[in-house]
Parts: sequence; structure tokens; C-alpha cells
Amino acid sequence: MATFVYFFGDGKADGHAGMKPILGGKGAGLHEMTNLGIPVPPGFTISAEVCRFREESDGGERYPEALEAEVDAALARLERLRGKRLGDPRDPLLVSVRSGAAASMPGMMDTVLNLGLNDRSVLGLAERAGGNRRFAFDAYRRFISMFASIVSGVRRELFEDALTEKKRARGARSDADLAGEDLAALVEDFKAIFAREAGEPFPQEPRSQLWRAIGAVFESWNNDRALRYRREKRLTGLLGTAVNVQSMVFGNLGDRSATGVGFTRDPATGEDRFYGEFLVNAQGEDVVAGIRTPLPIARMEEALPDAYRRLLAVKDRLERHFRDVQDMEFTVEEGELFLLQTRTGQRSGLAALRIATDMVDEGLIDAETAVLRVEPSHLDQLLFAVFDPAAKQRAVAGEKRLVAKGLAAGPGAACGAIAFTARDAEARAREGVRVILVRNETSPEDIGGMVAAQGILTSTGGLTSHAAVVGRGMGKCCVVGCGAIRIDHERREMSVKGRTFAEGAAISIDGTTGEVIEGELPTSPSEIVRVLVKGTLAAKAAPVYRRFERLMAWADAARRLKVRANADTPEDARAAVAFGAQGIGLTRTEHMFFGPDRLPVVRAMIVARDEEARRKALARLEPMQREDFIAIFRAMGSRPVTIRLLDPPLHEFLPHEPEQVEALARDLGITRAELEKKVASLHEFNPMLGHRGCRLGITYPEIYEMQVRAIARAACAVGREGIEIRPEIMIPLVAVDRELKLLRKRTSDEVDRVFDDEGLCVPTLIGTMIEIPRACMTADAIAREADFFSFGTNDLTQCTYGFSRDDAGTFLPSYEDLQLIERDPFATLDQEGVGGLVRTAVEKGRAANPKLKIGICGEHGGDAPSVRFFHAVGLDYVSCSPYRLPVARLAAAQAALEERGKKVQAAS
Ligand code: ADP
Ligand code: MG
Ligand code: MG
Repeated sequence: MATFVYFFGDGKADGHAGMKPILGGKGAGLHEMTNLGIPVPPGFTISAEVCRFREESDGGERYPEALEAEVDAALARLERLRGKRLGDPRDPLLVSVRSGAAASMPGMMDTVLNLGLNDRSVLGLAERAGGNRRFAFDAYRRFISMFASIVSGVRRELFEDALTEKKRARGARSDADLAGEDLAALVEDFKAIFAREAGEPFPQEPRSQLWRAIGAVFESWNNDRALRYRREKRLTGLLGTAVNVQSMVFGNLGDRSATGVGFTRDPATGEDRFYGEFLVNAQGEDVVAGIRTPLPIARMEEALPDAYRRLLAVKDRLERHFRDVQDMEFTVEEGELFLLQTRTGQRSGLAALRIATDMVDEGLIDAETAVLRVEPSHLDQLLFAVFDPAAKQRAVAGEKRLVAKGLAAGPGAACGAIAFTARDAEARAREGVRVILVRNETSPEDIGGMVAAQGILTSTGGLTSHAAVVGRGMGKCCVVGCGAIRIDHERREMSVKGRTFAEGAAISIDGTTGEVIEGELPTSPSEIVRVLVKGTLAAKAAPVYRRFERLMAWADAARRLKVRANADTPEDARAAVAFGAQGIGLTRTEHMFFGPDRLPVVRAMIVARDEEARRKALARLEPMQREDFIAIFRAMGSRPVTIRLLDPPLHEFLPHEPEQVEALARDLGITRAELEKKVASLHEFNPMLGHRGCRLGITYPEIYEMQVRAIARAACAVGREGIEIRPEIMIPLVAVDRELKLLRKRTSDEVDRVFDDEGLCVPTLIGTMIEIPRACMTADAIAREADFFSFGTNDLTQCTYGFSRDDAGTFLPSYEDLQLIERDPFATLDQEGVGGLVRTAVEKGRAANPKLKIGICGEHGGDAPSVRFFHAVGLDYVSCSPYRLPVARLAAAQAALEERGKKVQAAS
């Protein structure tokens, strides 16, 4: 048994679907299909371990010693099985050399087709194909250009230009109009280009072709596109790419041959219908590259009835076997069907939800598997905006602004300024402009621009073209194959049925219908948001919403971590409840201070000359705060509500523009000079680390006193209505246990005074935010003074790195580019550093106070990988903004299921 090479063919394979890490997804799929008896052209897979070995070897290009002999043996076996020899001049075996890593990286790495052709074997191939020179030389010219660009780094355009030139000279409209002799001449041109650019004649020796192609495919693991894609998708911990050497089958042998791709269900909507495209008389890459516009798969029934029937059977078989949607590549050679790839189909959020719930109903998977099948980012897409239906109706029917219709490839609504190149799209997006990337078709080089754009629009290519597959995977709104569009790169404009649009002009695209509309259209909330938050749509009329609720119910049944919301207003609180919040984890009282009726009073409080003046201003604020709290308590009912006492530095509330200072001075009845002096006295060099948080509460006791009184009075008022409310008072920015001890005493005294006075007692917790490293390290002492901890991971990250939250934008992107940090720690929790402090604080806190409740209320509460971490360290809840709650619920459920060892119910 070989160690690095795994054979597949003739109904049995050395590998299987569970071997993705070393065989790669493509390889594992080929082995599994072979074992299932599905027709797959035979071949062998070289393990991804070899890729790793090369990377670690000197110069990065050595192979394990045993490899050569193993490849020889596998090749000999393949030759015996096919009864042909690689590059044999009379009847050549031809192979493809295909990349494929454990995680799908569509189109990012390289594949060489038709290997084994040379000046002699091309004649043998022609003869074997019944004297079809056109076919043989077409295969040869494709091979030369692929080999040249992938192995020798010759620019692909040189070959494309030569082809265009040949077509022009021959008056041919498409490749198909070129005759065998034209292609034979083209092969000579291609070889000349190769010799000139690569500095050597085109290699004729098949085994040297093979080893050079294998080396190049391994190297494509580290090409720029692949590196960038892995960084973008955060794919880490992979060995590298495997290499599949597979005997060729030909979809370009005539009208009984074809090639195509298919999804077992609709990847855009999730509907259970066979979905795909095919091209008669074409080779595999033609479909994906969008060179000719392919036909819908259903048309194959008339074109190739037998192969179509077999394809339907294979499709059902694969979906039942893998219990998930499959994305397949196939080729029909002279009426005979071959499968070339199967993998888990990428899908839109809408499709993910529908497929997961449908498959539970069909008994293919259980509810827990359904929860694991939907990705947190899929839920984001479901909450995406759509165009305002009325505005769209007006634009389309009344104002005739519908300019064209393409294929709806990635759902959603997007509008922005037109950019014709990926580079322009990136540049404009950096300036803060929303852009739509408009291309004839996209290629992997365009990834950066696709990421930067709001949406993607292409003129050629089908629903499985690069733009469609990659765009959908990114969750981008995407319209493809919009044939009415003509792009003129020279003039930087596009024309559509007589209208022209310059670069930068505004357009809107609807990825759910394929419509392209002139100008910007207002967007409106998704179905789920309309049912849940706005109440403008009935659940009965909202199938997406109903599936969403089912999935959320399954997730809720699986998770241990509770979810709360950060909500500052009664409206936020109501949205929070609608999205499943089990409480409020953070109400920032200062947000209420910015209201137009409050700001003048807050300012009067801040600039007060003495305590008495400050108390007067506070007395005016108190009823306003009380009303706010009453409204929030009512919205939340018996769910806990955590209210944080004043946190930011006071100068944030003061005006800084001269006119505003003037006006405020007038309002306050003091001189401008006096006010300026006050503002200056509040100036801090480093306000984030200055006089804020509990430090304010300590030096101005009357501020916190007022806030606590407002909370306690509100609690009594709502408590009297018969609602068992559960207020939690949170003291921010504690670094020293004695700070908390002092403030806790003052807080509970004030609460008691109110309850005595009201003759009512509402159980009220007093706790603290943990957001300073010192607090983490002394969490035991702090826990003795606290009923609860809530990690403020924004400040904790800032203090742990010493990165200012407000200034990190100037250098963090470079840090990510240079891979000094893996990702922005303000977006996804840094598990080793900041997470280490969290873990310490949890352990010390619980040891000192077993009843301590612990949660987190930073931005990280709505970030899926961070939520998993908070589950693992044993927090009681996470709190995030209301719209992030579905993601938090799902991520918490997935963490719990994975901890229990629940595997996705599928062989893939
Ligand atoms: P990618 O990962 O970019 O899709 P693939 O290795 O799957 O690259 O190959 C590119 C195209 O070539 C696909 O359409 C595939 O079906 C086709 N292809 C690959 N190997 C063969 C083969 N042995 N015979 C026929 N077509 C092939
Ligand atoms: Mg493929
Ligand atoms: Mg903070």
C-alpha cells in the first residue's frame, strides 16, 4: 500500500469521503463516487501531505523519497486499466492534473487538462477520434496555453490574443467556426509564443510534462489568489492541496458529447429542483469560464436523453448518500456519462434555511444537523435589505428605469456607483463610496473588487459562472449573464439598449429577480424584519420567516448559553425581544443624555460651579431617566435588565465649535470665557483612560446617586403594575476591588432608601463590568463585592493590546496584511490574550463567589467565533445588538452541539 498516492478506478478506490484532509475535497469526492459505482474516469490522488512536505523542504520543491516510485506504479496501473500509455503516439492516454484542498477554494488554484499531448500523439488522438483533427488540435492548443500559463508563467492573454487574431483572419465568429487546419496552425503559433516567452521549446516528453504540471499545481496552493482567498475565508490549519491525476474524458467530441455542472437543489432559493447548465460539444472549463452561454440543464433531456436520465439518477443517489446538496461536474463523451466532481454545494442564506428545514421534513437529517448546516453568515443574509416594493414598482412600471434583466444569481438588493474594474471598485470603496462592480465576467483576479463592491453585475456567463458561484458564497447581491450590457473599457462607460452609463453613475441591481435599474432605489427591510420588528407583514404570508422561526427554535433547544441584547431605548428593547433576547445585557444610560431635550440639562450639570448647582441640574434629569427606565422595564417584562451607570468622559457632552460654545454660554447664563475655562479644565490628553466610568461616580457621587434613584423608582413603579422585573445595576470600568466596594455601598444604600420610602422591594443585583486587565487578575477580590460580572470586551481589548479603539484604523489593516495579527481583535475576540484574561477572571470570580452571574456585552457578543469561545469558557450569557441575536443564538447552539460531539450528519 502506497503512503502518498491513492488510486481510484474500476469500481473501487483506496480512499473515501472521510479522507478530505489528505485527499482534498475533490479527491475524496472522486474516491467516494468510485466506491459507489458511479462512473468516474480513473486516476490517482497525491496526498496533500506532499504539499506540506514540499513547503517545509529546502527551496520548497523537494518530494518525499518514495513519491516517484509510487506515482510510477499508479500511472502504470492507470495505463493498464485504460489500455493506453501516457502520450503514446498511436493512442495516447491523456490526463488532467487537478488541484483540490480539503476546503473548497473554487477556481483559486490551477488545473491542467489534456496532458500527454505532443506533436506526435496529437495525430494519434485525431486518428482514434475517427480522423477528427479539429478535436485533436483544439485539445492540444488548450493544453499548450494551460501548461504555459500554469507551469511556465506565460501570460494567458498572449494566447487569447493569438486566438482572436486567428478568428478575425478566418472571419470566424466563435471558436467553433475554426477548422482543424486553422487549429493546427494555431498550435504552431502557440508553440512559438511558448518558446519565445519561456525560453525553451514546448516540452514534448509526457513524463516531464506530468511532473512539471504536478509541481505547478502544488505551487498553486501559494499563489496570490489562493493566499488571499484563504485569508478572506479564514481557512487555516490545512495541509495544502492534493493533486489528482485523472484520465481525460472529452465533452468536445461532437454533438453527442457535452459538459456541464449541476446542483441537486437550487442554490439561490433552496427549492428542490435540479439546477444546472450544460454545453454541447465543449470541454469542462468552458462552462465555468462563461465563454459560451450554456443551456439550462432541463434542455439536456432532448439533447442527450440517455445521459440525462442517468444524470438524474446519479444526482438523487449523491444527495441521499451525502444527505446534503451536491454541486457536480460532469462530462458526456459520445453519449456516455462521467462524473468529474461532487462537493457540498455552496448556497445563499435563503437556500441554506430552506434546504435545512426541507431536509428535516424529508427525514434526511435531524433538527440538530439542520442547526449545524446553516452558517451564521447565512442568517445575516436573511436579514438583508430588499428594495422598497413600492419604489421599485414606480421605477420599473412608471418611470421606465428598468434597463435590463440578467440572471438572479445572489439574492439581495444593492445600489451604488458603477466601477468597471476590480481595482477601481476597491479604490472607490476605500473612499467610502458604495460601488457595483460591472464586468463582462469575473475571474479570480477580481476577488478584491468583488469583496469591496455592494453587488456584482456581469454581461456573460451563467448561474454557475465564477461571478455567480463566488459572489453567492460571499453573500453578495449578484446579477449575471445580463447580455444587453456592452462595456466599453476605453471610454469607461457601458451601453444598454441605447442608454449609456458612465463610470460612477448610479445603478441598482436586484439579485432576487435579476433586474438592473437606473439610479439608486431605496431599500427596505427583509421579510423577517418586517414580520418581527416592523409588524408590517403577517407571519402567515412570510414563508421565509416561518422557516427561520423553526430553525431558531431548534437552535434554542440545543444551546446552553443565554442571549441578551444591548438596547438603549424602548424601541431597541422591543426589537430585542422579537429577535429572542432573554434579557438586556447592556443599557447605556448616556445614550439617553444625547436627546435634544436632555443635552442642555446634562451640560448644565457638567459645567455646574458647585455641588448645589449640579444637584439642581440632576434633579431635572432624574424624571427623564426614570421614564426611560420605566419604558424599558415594561418592554422587557420579567426578563433581567442590566443598566450601566454613566461611563464616558464628561467632555464628550460639551460643545467644541466656537458658535456652539457661545450659544451654550448664553443658555447657561454664564460668560463665554467662563465656559471656555470649564471646557478647558475638562480637557484630557487621553480621555479613554481618563476621568470616566466609576471614576466619575467616585468623584461626583451625586451623579450615580441620581441614576440609581431613577432606576429604583422606575422599578417600584413597574413592580406595582404586577410585573416581576429584575433590574441589575452595573458599575463600569472597575480596576480595584475597593472602588466597587465603595460604590456598591453607596448604590445599595440609595436603593434601600427608595424601597423604604416606597414600601416595596424589588430584588436588584449590583455588579460590575470587567474591562480592565487588573480587574481580571484580581477578579476574586472584585467578585466578593459583585452579584455579576459583564465583560466589556471592547475596552478590555483596547487595554490589553494598548490599541486605541478610535485610532487603530490607521494601522490595523497593515497588521492584517502583514499577518502580524490574524484578524481585527475588535471584531473577533483574541482568544489567547484577551480571552486568557477572560478565562482567568471567570475562574477567580467563580471560585470566590459561586453565585456570580457572568456575561459579556461587547461587540464580540454577536460574532460567531467569539460566541463559541464564550460558550467554551462557561459564561452564562452573551449580549449583542438586537440584529445580531439570530447569529448569537445559532453560534451558541452550534458550539453546544459540537461540544456534545454532534457531527454534521453527512459523509462529506
Ligand atoms: P476547478 O477546481 O477550478 O473546477 P477542476 O480540476 O475541477 O478545476 O477542472 C476544471 C475543469 O476541467 C472542470 O470543468 C472539470 O470538470 C474539467 N476536467 C477536469 N479533469 C477532467 C478530466 N479528466 N476529463 C474531462 N474534464 C476534466
Ligand atoms: Mg471543478
Ligand atoms: Mg467600556
